[in-house]
Amino acid sequence: MKIRPLTLTLPLLLATQAFGAVTPGVPAFYGDPPDATHPWGVHDRNRPQPKRVEPGTYSTADKPGKPPSDAIVLFDGTAASLAKWESDPKEGPAGPTKWIVNDGALECVPKSGYIRTKEHFGDIQLHVEWAAPAKVQGDSQGRGNSGIFLMGLAEVQVLDNYNNPTYSDGFAASYYGVNPPLANALHPPGQFQSIDIIFRRPIYQDGKLVDPGYLTVFCNGVLVQDHTPLEGPGGHLRRSSARPFPEKGPLKLQDHGNPVRFRNIWYRPLPPRAVEGGTDGALTAEATRAKRKQIAAEIRTHAASLKATPNEEMLRLAESLVYENDPATSREVVRRFEAYAASVSPLAKGDLEKRKEEILNVLRALRYLGKHELVPANFAPTATLARIEKAQDWMPKKK
Ligand code: MG
Repeated sequence: MKIRPLTLTLPLLLATQAFGAVTPGVPAFYGDPPDATHPWGVHDRNRPQPKRVEPGTYSTADKPGKPPSDAIVLFDGTAASLAKWESDPKEGPAGPTKWIVNDGALECVPKSGYIRTKEHFGDIQLHVEWAAPAKVQGDSQGRGNSGIFLMGLAEVQVLDNYNNPTYSDGFAASYYGVNPPLANALHPPGQFQSIDIIFRRPIYQDGKLVDPGYLTVFCNGVLVQDHTPLEGPGGHLRRSSARPFPEKGPLKLQDHGNPVRFRNIWYRPLPPRAVEGGTDGALTAEATRAKRKQIAAEIRTHAASLKATPNEEMLRLAESLVYENDPATSREVVRRFEAYAASVSPLAKGDLEKRKEEILNVLRALRYLGKHELVPANFAPTATLARIEKAQDWMPKKK
């Protein structure tokens, strides 16, 4: 027997993936179809698979963990990663930071000023670990104070509150000046605290607030900010109020006069929200229509590559109607189902038996399309195939 060389099939495979890849093992015409605000059906086989991310490892007291595979590392314990940071002067050009790398940690040199990343970003998942000095000095806001400024604006407070009361909206892991943390989950000073932040900046459109933006924070794995709406940058003494943020900004770390240490700093950019063009979650009617049109077009392109298997082409084309009931495609689908029914209708019992699976598959598609009003009411091909199903005794057996 001759074995077909792989080179012949591989381009076909790649073409399949490029034009409307479907999830293996998930049938078409399955869950509820898309609707006015959901471009995808329920259990939709055309919906892209989540991208693969190799998870990292957790940190221990002595050793920082490994970031996930798609993280962008801002500080990895090496002196070289200091090059990703610069000084943050109140005015004038930035220069190299005066903070130092000490035993794998980025350490604030008091009175040297804030530092910031050279890179700018918007919505992120951020991981930071910090340790207040082991030698306890000062109290309230004077003990192990620093800060994590998202986009250089909103501060997630860094403070040694292990055994140190202060005003609660200035507590460690508070949204400084706005919202206290839900709990004090700190380790003692000298030990690293693990902070995970999900930051969404505010979105304004035509000067109108459409999404306030949010801060979600975990301190040592404990939820401390629960999707807290942003109210501007927060800050000292003055009541902060909602306002637009720029598209992007740096991450800043505060010099508040204490030699606080940082390690294992990385982030992952977050996908856009529905209000800014994202295509997951419930969308506006307009965005849903546009996305459904795009999915339908991709499926039709894929259908056109299936000419060698006309039944598959017909079903794939019919599947596109679920997303966009385009009149030309609808007419073509109706024509093909009619031709299909006419071709199987006169077959003898034995020939029908050989095509049982195929015919039942087409009938299942027709019933789904009928239920969702995507083929005409009382569609003749559905009745023809249902008659065959009954005559061949293919109906599911009642137990
Ligand atoms: Mg601070």
